[in-house]
Amino acid sequence: MYWEKEIETIPRESLLELQLTRLKESLKKASASPFYGKVFKEMGFDPSQFHSIEDLQSIPFTTKEDLRRNRPYGFTAVPKKKLIRVHLSSEIIDDRALAVFHTADDIDQWADVMARSMAMTGMSDNDVFQNMLPYGLLTGGLGFHYGAEKIGALVIPAGVENSRRQIQLMQDFETTVIHISPIYALHLSVVFQEIGIDPRKHTHLKTAFIGAEPHSEKTRDKIEELFGIKVFNSYGLSEMNGPGVSFECPARMGMHVWEDHFFVEIIDPNTLKPVSDGQPGELVLTTLLRQGMPLLRYRTRDLTRVIPEPCKCGRTHKRIERISGRTDDMMIIKGVNIYPSQIEKKLANLPGTGPNFMIILEREGLNDHMIIKVEVQKEFFSGNLKQLENLRQKIIEALKTDIPITPKVKLVEPNTLAKIEGRFVRVIDNRKDLYF
Ligand code: AMP
Ligand code: ZN
Repeated sequence: MYWEKEIETIPRESLLELQLTRLKESLKKASASPFYGKVFKEMGFDPSQFHSIEDLQSIPFTTKEDLRRNRPYGFTAVPKKKLIRVHLSSEIIDDRALAVFHTADDIDQWADVMARSMAMTGMSDNDVFQNMLPYGLLTGGLGFHYGAEKIGALVIPAGVENSRRQIQLMQDFETTVIHISPIYALHLSVVFQEIGIDPRKHTHLKTAFIGAEPHSEKTRDKIEELFGIKVFNSYGLSEMNGPGVSFECPARMGMHVWEDHFFVEIIDPNTLKPVSDGQPGELVLTTLLRQGMPLLRYRTRDLTRVIPEPCKCGRTHKRIERISGRTDDMMIIKGVNIYPSQIEKKLANLPGTGPNFMIILEREGLNDHMIIKVEVQKEFFSGNLKQLENLRQKIIEALKTDIPITPKVKLVEPNTLAKIEGRFVRVIDNRKDLYF
């Protein structure tokens, strides 16, 4: 079940050597981008003087804010004619999403890690692979698609077709492997039930790849039970291509990060110092091969830990644990990343609102609801209900464009929303995991 056995099982010492060589190259490549060119110049750093992996500590972290400030082309390290594809991350900041650019080689390398990830679970050219994540600007669809084609599986690019159609495709073409979000998998099982088909008996399904949003071991167990399949966790983020950063092997005890493509650090999000293997912290990644847009010490904001013990499967690449949370206030709703600051900006543009607001997230069955309590100026509460309702509608309209669900908006009097130690409470997430 190896795609590239030599590299997947490479001894750690050789892997470290390879990483050092690739880090040097990556730093050189990065220095050609306007952003890193300037950073290196300001700090008097010469990539040719980079000699050991420890030297990486002197390079500053890169943040989402850096990407935002320097978009669209501030991080590209090759002439534009070398770029062949752009993908967007799923959050909108200042009305735009972050863009990540790829060269032809980058796309090929990405397909390699995807093929390696899927082959590791036993998928082969005998399989029929139904890819049920959106195709297009986001990374989940095309990322898996190219990897599955590389393996030689028969790919059904189903994308976001409706559920009955998905089931029909599964049955017609005898799908064996699916890529699906955890919440959609649970929803699809309900549709199976509605039409009276038992996916355990009347389909050829055997494997699912799930990811893109946090989910628990219990949710995985439930999906396995409902479909009678094996479920593998897939982790990635658009800034690092998308899927293919880290994937579960058959041992299913953590996800291997492909360390020949990504250099892994775990830092304490408060002190920003590295923690030792086994300790929890924020995942920081450096691209080792990407040419179009190398990223150095990128703070993912995702919390995890490295599992120090060697894996039973024989692969030597480090494993990380299931993502346990975030070090920022990003919410994932229907696969779309949303920050309270986006909502704050929208509200700030609407006269009458302020000073505070609060987002409450609830889950009812498989549906997420967002309730936003917005403080509005006192005069709106003078009895003119129509005026109040107009403002409420304006707020809903303004917010709807960035959020995949229509929020419920409640208007409240100024200075009535809770504060903790003088600070606004922006988000209360009451969404329980689907299955605890
Ligand atoms: P995007 O860049 O829009 O693909 O979103 C990437 C983010 O989605 C990551 O930084 C994580 O917070 C989250 N994410 C992706 N895959 C997983 C996963 N398997 N488990 C938990 N969170 C995930
Ligand atoms: Zn393993």
